[in-house]
Amino acid sequence: MQLKLYNTLTRKKEIFKPITKGKVGLYTCGPTVYWFAHIGNMRSYIFADLLRRTLEYNDLKVKQIMNVTDVGHLTSDEDEGEDKMIIAMRREGKSAYDVAGFYATKFFQDLKSLNVKEATEYPRATDHIKEQIDLVKKLEEKEFTYRTDDGIYFDTSKLKDYGKLSKQSAKDKKAGARTEMRDKKNPTDFALWKFSPEGEKREMEWDSPWGVGFPGWHLECSAMSVKYLGIPFDIHTGGVDHIAVHHENEIAQSAGAFDELQANVWMHNEFIAVDDTKMSKSLGNLYLVDDLEKKGFEALAYRYFLLGAHYRTKQNFTWEAVEAAQNALNNLRDAVRDWDKPKGACAECEKRFLSAVNDDLDMPKALSIAWKLVQKEEKPTAARAASLLKFDQILGLRLDKYVAKPLKVPTKVKVLVEAREKAREEKDFAKADEVRDKIEEAGFIVEDAADGSKLREKH
Ligand code: AMP
Ligand code: ZN
Repeated sequence: MQLKLYNTLTRKKEIFKPITKGKVGLYTCGPTVYWFAHIGNMRSYIFADLLRRTLEYNDLKVKQIMNVTDVGHLTSDEDEGEDKMIIAMRREGKSAYDVAGFYATKFFQDLKSLNVKEATEYPRATDHIKEQIDLVKKLEEKEFTYRTDDGIYFDTSKLKDYGKLSKQSAKDKKAGARTEMRDKKNPTDFALWKFSPEGEKREMEWDSPWGVGFPGWHLECSAMSVKYLGIPFDIHTGGVDHIAVHHENEIAQSAGAFDELQANVWMHNEFIAVDDTKMSKSLGNLYLVDDLEKKGFEALAYRYFLLGAHYRTKQNFTWEAVEAAQNALNNLRDAVRDWDKPKGACAECEKRFLSAVNDDLDMPKALSIAWKLVQKEEKPTAARAASLLKFDQILGLRLDKYVAKPLKVPTKVKVLVEAREKAREEKDFAKADEVRDKIEEAGFIVEDAADGSKLREKH
């Protein structure tokens, strides 16, 4: 069955054809490690993970590269403001490398909790300074660069089709530009190399043919993608905010240096809003994976929540929605625990599932097909188990821990549950609560439903 993906470059769903048969080169713009990645950022990485898993489900071998930005990303994506790493360094009284190390480690832990598969490599900008300088040299030789007081810039007017991703010509962008021109030639021009401020020693700075300084943010993705994936490679991903500036500039640098389109397919996820408002630190509505856990939800409940919307639609985060996702996930686990061991398959369901995921990753539909399979009483549970576990290769809900694996309750806990029932019958609610806490300490949660109480493992 053909896999169709929406390409931002052509604004169309296209049949995906890998450059090399059976293989895919995938580049995912990664985090800037100056602070924690929030749940909005996580949508980007879960989207890339769903894409990667879908490619693998289609028997394609994926090489996925995700960069880690640890220098050069300024407070504005348009070369204004300060380097985010330097701000963090000052805030935390640590070296920039320690800041980067700390947040990168946390980021990888969060990816693990969300069951995002590990990328093939996570190259860091600071480990690729030479490659970035070489790229600027190439651009200089081909006369795409000029020098200003504060750096070496890319002259976007030299590229005939600058703006093709966002479908805005340099001229359109000029009209709407809010950026300061300083001594740039065109508003869309961007820094390739920035000089360290005069008389100041930056912690992160390197020698270059143009003077001591540091690379511009867009440069690392062009330099590292060509190193690890070649040019062109198959698919490049990121959030929609990257379309107009970051990805446009990656395309420009790569085209300028190599006369090639950097990647054939460009895919972008829409944003997460919180209570219909843009997430921001100052509004206090910016949440982390840790915040989910602090409220008693699993990171996987957030993954389940994301499956409920297509990656190209905006999604609204509310705590009620996460609670509903957690409940649905719990119910899914309960439904499959007592099934027989996987054997056979539901061929019809598998066909429908494949056609949903291959239709530009229609995860809401795929999830509903998974639920229909779970409820398909006429099929033996062994066949349902086999197909559901197959679906979970993409959904990534770790259902293998639950399918055909009945809950094992230690005798000690069973005794406590009975004691709690008795206390409740006797209307001794203080005692019932006390026993409930003991059950929790033993790693289980009791939930009271209309049809009696239920036990669950605590996560
Ligand atoms: P950054 O670290 O700012 O480069 O962002 C990392 C990734 O998260 C990028 O792909 C962004 O496009 C994406 N992103 C940022 N904010 C959100 C949001 N609220 N919802 C979804 N994706 C986001
Ligand atoms: Zn990038």
